[in-house]
Amino acid sequence: MIPYGKQEISQADIDAVVEVLKSDFLTQGPMVPKFEQTVADHVGAKYALAVNSATSALHIACMALGLGKADWLWTTPVTFVASANCGLYCGAQVDFVDIDPLTYNLCPEALKAKLEKAKTENRLPKVVVAVHLCGQPCNMKAIADLALRYGFKVIEDASHAIGGRYRSEYIGSSRYSDITVFSFHPVKIVTTAEGGMAVTDNDELAQKMDLFRSHGITRNSSLMTHEPDGPWYYQQVALGYNYRMTELQAALGISQMQRLDDFVARRHGLAKRYDEMLKDLPLTLPWQHPDSYSGLHLYVVRLQLEKCRHSHREVFEALRERGIGVNLHYIPVHTQPYYERMGFKANDFPQAMAYYSEAISLPMFQGLTNEQQDQVVGALESILT
Ligand SMILES: *Cc1c(COP(=O)(O)O)cnc(C)c1O
Repeated sequence: MIPYGKQEISQADIDAVVEVLKSDFLTQGPMVPKFEQTVADHVGAKYALAVNSATSALHIACMALGLGKADWLWTTPVTFVASANCGLYCGAQVDFVDIDPLTYNLCPEALKAKLEKAKTENRLPKVVVAVHLCGQPCNMKAIADLALRYGFKVIEDASHAIGGRYRSEYIGSSRYSDITVFSFHPVKIVTTAEGGMAVTDNDELAQKMDLFRSHGITRNSSLMTHEPDGPWYYQQVALGYNYRMTELQAALGISQMQRLDDFVARRHGLAKRYDEMLKDLPLTLPWQHPDSYSGLHLYVVRLQLEKCRHSHREVFEALRERGIGVNLHYIPVHTQPYYERMGFKANDFPQAMAYYSEAISLPMFQGLTNEQQDQVVGALESILT
């Protein structure tokens, strides 16, 4: 089976991890700060906080922004559940904004309309999580303008988008948001096995996230309520979690980051080949906004069902039968039973549902060979024509 996504591990990656195993520190050593610096330098952020997953990064980001019980978090329904769950972790309520039919990202016009309505009902969101689906950045300028006007904070869920750019700046530069989050799960662009990172330019948010990822404990005397009792002293000044990343993960991450630009360039090469080879099939191919350079975590096609002999499900199953490990990103979050119980109806977000009824993620990863890609295209041709 050709998977839809897969890590690429080099000998240098293996050596870097083995080196840590032989060193003095498996956790809380020099590698995590070095990895944070590597990512911060690459994306152009002032602070980077490594954690054990992007899910944890989203949680501490929401906590740092003060999201709490009386608050609302809004995000797109076409995302992984973690983009919404982080609001629930904080006791906030979650709502969704429908997607743009071209980019499949949260639609700024739908956001504006929903904000106007929410304002009259006095239930404006405190946080909006903008997810860069497939690696293509959201229309961040429009979202940032609305954030100013309606007074909400913005988290970029860039789990798909490290190495991508928006208006020529790397995603993570934080120009249009408060905090940006990356995932290093093995199917993503850069991996640390499990792992995530939150980046920001804001001193206070960085300090809070640093506390929340490690029990709410500090050894920084300027954050303590009184002078340290002695050199052993630390204080717990907030309620945090153990969301720390290990040294092994950070070493792998540093080594992977050396190849980030190559990874993304290879993904663009593959996307170009797909664009070319699939253009005559009854498929809607990924549309790229001219302002964006996608990280290209995913290559999603939509079936033009009126031109297909087979249903969406039949095409999906036929691809799997031919050894093509296609996937579907994502089942709209509001249709998950846990969210359905909050009162959401499938058709609350019709663009998301239309997308869900047609979308298929084709294999897209840096190690995908041209021959494997030809196999994917051949399978699609034989099924669709
Ligand atoms: C993968 C993913 C996450 C969660 O990442 P983990 O590192 O697995 O916790 C969150 N949001 C999106 C959009 C993702 O794709």
